[in-house]
Amino acid sequence: MENCIFCRIANRETPARIVYEDERVLAFEDIRPQSPVHLLVIPRKHWMTLGDVAPEDGALLGHLFIVAARVARERGLEGTGYRTVINNGAWAGQTVDHLHVHVLGGRVFHWPPG
Ligand code: 5GP
Ligand code: ZN
Repeated sequence: MENCIFCRIANRETPARIVYEDERVLAFEDIRPQSPVHLLVIPRKHWMTLGDVAPEDGALLGHLFIVAARVARERGLEGTGYRTVINNGAWAGQTVDHLHVHVLGGRVFHWPPG
């Protein structure tokens, strides 16, 4: 989708520090990290929120989380734990309208979130 920053990153039109890539998803460093490790995992397909994911897209949604676990493992986060977050819509704090999984680690996180 034109003018979508994450589609542009997926198409290599905008640079990013990509840490994993395949034909369906990619993972890259967040430009404003909120923790020592802060990665974003995105589908190449432009979904705005979870609400756009059709039942037949379940395998892609599953793959997104498999890759989130993989990059977390590669960063050594499995032992201490890490947080995966999807913000959906304004009140959740979504600022980029292309569905993405945050992978946050390297420090303690509190619950409930702010
Ligand atoms: P949201 O607030 O939508 O859940 O998360 C969007 C995330 O994307 C934020 O953590 C923000 O720092 C990150 N972000 C926004 N623009 C860019 C960009 O151009 N490049 C990268 N690598 N991250 C971005
Ligand atoms: Zn997009």
